Amino acid sequence: MKDFGIILNGSAHSVSGTFDVLNPADGSLVGRAPGAGVEELNAAVAAAAQAFPAWSALSDEDRKAACHAAAAKIEEHSEELAELLTREQGKPLNGLGSRFELGGAGAWAHYTADLEMPVKVLQDNNEGRVELHRKPIGVVGSITPWNWPVMIAVWHILPAIRAGNTVVNKPAPQTPLSTLRMVELMNEVLPAGVVNCVSGDDALGKAMSEHEGIGKIIFTGSCATGKKVMASASETLKRLTLELGGNDAGIVLPDVDPRQIAEGLFWGAFINSGQTCAALKRLYVHEDVHDAVCEELVAFARNIPMGNGLDENSILGPVQNREQFQIVANLVSEAMAGGGTVLMGADPDGGDSLFYPVTILSDMKNGDRLVDEEQFGPALPIVRYSDIDEAIRMANDNPNGLGGSVWSNDIERAKEIAGRMECGSVWINRHGTIQPNAPFGGVKNSGVGVEFGEEGLFENTNIQTVFC
Ligand code: NAD
Repeated sequence: MKDFGIILNGSAHSVSGTFDVLNPADGSLVGRAPGAGVEELNAAVAAAAQAFPAWSALSDEDRKAACHAAAAKIEEHSEELAELLTREQGKPLNGLGSRFELGGAGAWAHYTADLEMPVKVLQDNNEGRVELHRKPIGVVGSITPWNWPVMIAVWHILPAIRAGNTVVNKPAPQTPLSTLRMVELMNEVLPAGVVNCVSGDDALGKAMSEHEGIGKIIFTGSCATGKKVMASASETLKRLTLELGGNDAGIVLPDVDPRQIAEGLFWGAFINSGQTCAALKRLYVHEDVHDAVCEELVAFARNIPMGNGLDENSILGPVQNREQFQIVANLVSEAMAGGGTVLMGADPDGGDSLFYPVTILSDMKNGDRLVDEEQFGPALPIVRYSDIDEAIRMANDNPNGLGGSVWSNDIERAKEIAGRMECGSVWINRHGTIQPNAPFGGVKNSGVGVEFGEEGLFENTNIQTVFC
């Protein structure tokens, strides 16, 4: 069984303590991760700080080339990383699983490498010239979650280094191995110290948020932890990008063809067994098409195989950890006790299994916890509505505001409704599709700032205004 090391100043180093990483599909040991503490964190921050002057002084073209080389390393080892990811995260190799995640990570990394940071001329006249320059911040601390660990690490690391920063990443303790290995591979082509990776428990994340040597934190995770990061970061006035939880609503209008939208609704809700920030987490369906939409969605869902992710036939995997499994199970039990109708699922095997079946419930309403709270698992509540203004009010009646969707054959009408939804991204006739050139972030409790595209890149910079 492999012991992994922290990635510090260009290479892997073992530390005195380790912790076990288990496969959620069968409980087997995947590997032992280094349990780094404050001492290792300090060393990683020091390595990143030491690498910063030379890295930030490189020409744009040289930094771009180095970022492309790091992206190529991910691609070159994508099958190895996909298998490790499946074993520690549970998501299947196939479907929208590990191979899909690795493909996205490589493509995202290349796209980000090519982003530009030109000097912007704000004024150039007889009264003088004013220029806006984008400068790197210094050491960026990246804290990542367990649902899309490799992809999210790339979303954090690549824009940070493209802009000239150096990085210390801390993966989630449930899924640290694929990130540690990916960062090790990147270090085969990047200068030592530019990207470091330390795994450990949650206290390490707190220590990063407080660390005097870190200039910015980019954090992806739950709203509750995001608020803690913001509080810990206040003492050192760190720059922050917070990508937090979502409870995305979808609104289905009466003019849809239920069969045509079933597949899009299913993947919107159940991608990665629902463990996705911008998954469809509550569905409001007009009464005219309610029964037909439920029927088509269930018919589609019944054909999607769930199983051990290493089995090439599996398309959905288990819930990643016991704590999350219990959250989903409790929300569904409560929904059933409160009058929800189970259309499918809600009958886990029991015992130690972390496989929770695809579960769809109708007769749900705002005020039910499964509707009001983020389930982050394979359980979708459906709410019937008759009046569109009421549906929009119910969709917006939530502290989160990550994504949302409208489903209709009338695109102009759908866009008008989309504009009234309180969320950072809104999709029409699909849900949760993201791309590297389109900014992504939450409003309300779902976060601060955005990732992706030029706007995401700029979050890794400070502005310096030059008056000539
Ligand atoms: P989490 O908040 O429990 O953990 C995320 C990371 O924070 C982990 O690395 C953890 O070790 C670290 N951490 C824990 N306590 C900390 C502290 N006090 N200070 C600093 N770091 C700390 O989240 P999770 O359970 O791993 O992920 C699931 C959540 O993430 C869901 O709510 C999901 O919606 C959200 N998420 C959001 C996005 C997005 O882009 N908006 C993407 C993926 C996941």
